[in-house]
Amino acid sequence: MKITSITTTPIRLNVSHAPYSTQNAGSKHHWGKRSRVSPKRPLPILEYILVSIHTDDGVTGIGESSVDIGFFGQTLEEIQIAINDYLGPQLIGQDPFDRERIMDIIDFRGNSCAKAGLDLALHDLIGKALSTPVSTLLGGRNRSKVPVSVEIAGGAPDDMAAECLRFMDLGVYAFKAKIGGYPEQDVDRLRAIREAVGAEVSLRADANQGYSPKEAIRLCRLAERYDVGLELLEQPVAAWDLPGMAFVRRSVDTLIEADEGCYTIHDALQLIRHEAVDVLNIKIGKAGGLLHAKKIAAVAEAAGIKCVLGTSFGLGIEMAAKLHLAASIRAVVDAVEFTEIGLHTNLLAAPYNKEFALPLTEGCLPIPEGPGFGVVLDDAEVELVTLNRVVS
Ligand SMILES: [Mg+2]
Repeated sequence: MKITSITTTPIRLNVSHAPYSTQNAGSKHHWGKRSRVSPKRPLPILEYILVSIHTDDGVTGIGESSVDIGFFGQTLEEIQIAINDYLGPQLIGQDPFDRERIMDIIDFRGNSCAKAGLDLALHDLIGKALSTPVSTLLGGRNRSKVPVSVEIAGGAPDDMAAECLRFMDLGVYAFKAKIGGYPEQDVDRLRAIREAVGAEVSLRADANQGYSPKEAIRLCRLAERYDVGLELLEQPVAAWDLPGMAFVRRSVDTLIEADEGCYTIHDALQLIRHEAVDVLNIKIGKAGGLLHAKKIAAVAEAAGIKCVLGTSFGLGIEMAAKLHLAASIRAVVDAVEFTEIGLHTNLLAAPYNKEFALPLTEGCLPIPEGPGFGVVLDDAEVELVTLNRVVS
């Protein structure tokens, strides 16, 4: 089988509100910045590139690239051109089963989301060609369903607690609070949430690089003193500050996780060598796809640490990919983050348009059973949110 063409489709979804606060709540790192909103894009939006890989056998695989200049560092236009003009054309004529060779061919620095879109389409294609779910390609299933966590935007303590209760009514029992401003105020947010949700609910916190190392230590000590029951603290300090992360980790009992600092297998190993992490956050968009995500999980497993699978506001394809990935990783911490279910509807056809949506059953999402990712896009829904169609 040979790859014959690669198609990209840019998607722009209007959402009712920005996913995170940037006004004196959440990470200080983001205050005053609006990464997804600019004078040319004044309304809250989420953007994506859908990627289709076509073959001479007539089998097509579909993937999805996340777009967020504020987190992943690239625009929609950059990702689409990277796939259409630079990465995609090099894959024409290649055997899609040669995943290692293909990812080696496009292993340029950066472009992780462009690579992820291609990698997802490859996995979907191979699964369909073999009539097997992608989770089988990744090592098989270690679980049959996946508990869901959602992120809670920074805000007033009572508002954050109320948002958690609203989600609990919809069957969500795990949360990650966005903090990273001032430790004394942030611990009040965590205390309000814990008081509202009770002792059994998973509560993580993400500082998105907002703290200095000493502020992060202060937050953890306050959380420990008030018995907030914090499952972990994500990316407390700047992504580049591995000694700072290690200092925080040595100084507190709270588990410390890397997110912005963990893109590649080399990042993962450096974090572990610096003794800077207890947990690694893997996102398909950061890793550049499932092949590399599995390798990061293997590095974590070798070091005896755990992984969290983070949110990328998927459209449906990426959500399915993350479920297959979660099923196949032994070292994954229980809840997998799917903040998108609270932000927008997905673009999938039945039954997954409803199954990957609120309310949840027993706090979980199912892992699709069919070939490839086991999900199909709703063409009419995709047409509604397509900016334009470009074929390479
Ligand atoms: Mg994060």
